[in-house]
Amino acid sequence: MIVVMARGASEDEIRLVVERLEGCGFQAVVSRGAVQTTVEAVGADGRAPAGLESLLASGNVERIIPFAEPFKLASRQVRQDRTVVGVKGVRIGGPRLTVMAGPCSVESREQLLIVARAVTAAGADILRGGAFKPRTSPYDFQGLGVEGLKLLAAAGEETGLPVVTEVMSVDDVEVVMEFSDMLQVGARNMQNFPLLRRLGKVSAPVLLKRGPSATIKEWLLAAEYLLAGGNANVVLCERGIRTFETELRNTLDLAGVARVKELTHLPVIVDPSHATGRRSVIPAAARAAAAVGADGVMLEVHPEPERALSDGPQALTCEDFALLMQDLRSYWSGKSTDA
Ligand code: PEP
Ligand code: MN
Repeated sequence: MIVVMARGASEDEIRLVVERLEGCGFQAVVSRGAVQTTVEAVGADGRAPAGLESLLASGNVERIIPFAEPFKLASRQVRQDRTVVGVKGVRIGGPRLTVMAGPCSVESREQLLIVARAVTAAGADILRGGAFKPRTSPYDFQGLGVEGLKLLAAAGEETGLPVVTEVMSVDDVEVVMEFSDMLQVGARNMQNFPLLRRLGKVSAPVLLKRGPSATIKEWLLAAEYLLAGGNANVVLCERGIRTFETELRNTLDLAGVARVKELTHLPVIVDPSHATGRRSVIPAAARAAAAVGADGVMLEVHPEPERALSDGPQALTCEDFALLMQDLRSYWSGKSTDA
C-alpha cells in the first residue's frame, strides 16, 4: 500500500510512519515529491500490510492507497510524475526522444570508430555496442569481451557519448560497470533473477529489454527486482516479441508500449532493429515508436552491414542512420511524456 503523507508533514511524522511499517516487517520506500511525500510499504511476500490503517491514520497521513498492481514500485500508482533517468548527462524520459545507436557487436577499433563518429555527427545521444554477445548458436561470434568494452569506452571518450552495453552474467557486472555508463540486460536475460538482484544493488542505470516471450506484467516484475533492490535508474526497452508471425524477426508490440507507459512511471524505449530484423522497415518502425510516445529508440548501425559479424540484415548503414535521424527530428517536438 501507499501512504500519502499530508502536505506539510514533518520529517518526524514521516519517520514515525516508516518505523511503524518496518516494525511490521515491511520495506518502506520514501518518495519526496515537490508537494507531498509518499511512503510505499512493500511486503516481503508481496502482500500489502494488513491492519495498519488505523495505526497510520493517527499520524499526519492524508490517505492510504492499497496496491492494485503486483509491480508496486514500478507502478504509476506510486508515482504520477514520470521518472527521468540520467546517463552521464543524457536525460531519458524527458521531453526529447533519446537515440541510442551503434553496432550490434564491437568488432574492431576501426569498425567501432567509423560508426561512433557517424552516429555522433548525425545527433545520437548514446553509443551502443555489444562486447558480451548472447548468440543463439555457440558457433557464432560471441563478442570481444573485455577487449570490446575497452574499445567502446575509448570510442565514448573520443565522441563524448555515454555508452551502453550488455552484461550477461553476475560475474561480469564489475568489469562492465568499469567501462560503460549504462548496463543492458538483454531480452534473453530478462528473467535472470540473480543478475537482476545484483543490478538492483548498483547505482548505474540499467536498460531492461523485454523478453521475447514475456508478458508486460512479467517485464514490469523484472523491473521490480531492480527497483526493490534499490536501483531506481531503470529504462525499459520493447524489442519485439515472438508470435505466430514469421515474416519479420519479431513482432513489435507498439500498443504495448503505450500501455506500459500507462502502467509505469519508468521511461520506455523501442529497439526497431531487433523488433523487425529487416533494414527496410526500421525507419517506419522507429517513426511509429516515436509516434506512440516512446522515450527513445535504439538502432543498430554498421559501416558495411553485409560484412557484420552479427545482425547484418538489420543494420542501418551510417548514411541510412543520418537520414532517419533527420526524419525522427520532426517527431521530437511532438513527443509527449504523458500516457
Ligand atoms: C542487442 O541489443 O544486441 C541484443 C542482443 O538485443 P536483444 O537482447 O533484444 O536480443
Ligand atoms: Mn543485435
